[in-house]
Amino acid sequence: MSDKQRNADRASANRAAVATGTRLDPWYNTYADRALGMRQSEVRSLFAVANRPEVVSLAGGMPNIEGLPLEFLAEMSSRLLRDRGASILQYGSGQGSDELREMIVEVMRPDGIRGHADDVVVTTGSQQALDLISQIFINPGDVVLAEAPSYVGALGTFRAYQANVVHVPMDAEGLVPEELVRVIDELEAEGKPIKFLYTIPNFHNPGGVCLSAERRPRIAEICQRRHILVVEDNPYGLLGFDGDPIPAIQSINPDGVVYLGSFSKTFAPGYRVGWALAPTAVAARLTLANENALLCPSTFAQLSINEYLRTYDWYQQVKEYREMYHERGRAMQEALEEYMPMCSWNSPEGGFYTWVKLPEGLDAQAMLPRAVTNLVAYVSGTAFYADGQGRDHMRLSFCYPTPERIREGVQRLAAVVRAEAEL
Ligand code: PMP
Repeated sequence: MSDKQRNADRASANRAAVATGTRLDPWYNTYADRALGMRQSEVRSLFAVANRPEVVSLAGGMPNIEGLPLEFLAEMSSRLLRDRGASILQYGSGQGSDELREMIVEVMRPDGIRGHADDVVVTTGSQQALDLISQIFINPGDVVLAEAPSYVGALGTFRAYQANVVHVPMDAEGLVPEELVRVIDELEAEGKPIKFLYTIPNFHNPGGVCLSAERRPRIAEICQRRHILVVEDNPYGLLGFDGDPIPAIQSINPDGVVYLGSFSKTFAPGYRVGWALAPTAVAARLTLANENALLCPSTFAQLSINEYLRTYDWYQQVKEYREMYHERGRAMQEALEEYMPMCSWNSPEGGFYTWVKLPEGLDAQAMLPRAVTNLVAYVSGTAFYADGQGRDHMRLSFCYPTPERIREGVQRLAAVVRAEAEL
């Protein structure tokens, strides 16, 4: 390991120690309670090691954007600056650009959504939409329902707002309606009001599964009847390997759903543009919260995305992404079948992730340092639960490494699992 690498790792470890509130930080007693609840995500703390070239990282959820038309984008950016002048570098509306919001309404049509641009709020990625939603809905101690497991970034945000996250079981068809009813009944009996249900219906992160078409109206109806808002997070919906997207829950009950979309996975995450489509009154509050947080989302980024959608065959680009991820997903399945018969896993039909169950008694979190020593990284299942579950699972991402590297990574991981199982 080089000195530079060693220093970078040490700096990252120090930052992590400070972030998790050890005595290294002289301001520890000055922080608000909510800041003390923040934790570095297991995914982010892995980045420093997992990014070393010799490590096959099956950990991160970074999209592979090598196929982007960079020449086109370079030309497009200079054209935008030339044609629109300085206005593209000016502040804009807190709700987001009118043009882009109109375009976003079109982007949501394949999900069966017939929204209105007035109800769309543009955000700095859907991660910021999660923050705004938390800001306007969560008081400390409020209950938020989330699938078990759930997206690590959302759990981090909910925790920062001191929510009480209660998990609802999922199976191969996604969130289980009967379990949802059971959990709501239990919470109501305990006198704990529920603020919203957070769900990722398509190509779940980390579960890899889709909420079936049959279950969507049932989930919508249960939440409508109990007056529970649904936050439907859908960054992967257009990345099904084949077939059309299943209609969104939003399309069933537009008045009861805040739908989140993002250009991070279908275009490029570096622009940092996502959105929320919300019932009118909620959209107005999200806009106020956005103004407080940002004044406005980046004008340049929004108008760049708008121009890309307007002038490039972006749907064809999405198809190319889909094919690439399909090939990688297949490589992951084949490698698991060949090298990991001692584990079980699901077969995702889109998205980035496979959810793998370890043999009885193995602990994904404890095993991780040994995997990294063996030059392969994954995310322990524990990252995806608010309550410490998940040691028996790991999330393997197939989005970033090539099919050959995926094979190599799974082979290395299999050696670690085998050694561990024999201990
Ligand atoms: N939701 C889910 C389920 C995700 O997987 C991600 C990114 N990993 C996000 C939201 C945030 O995406 P972004 O902020 O880039 O739009």
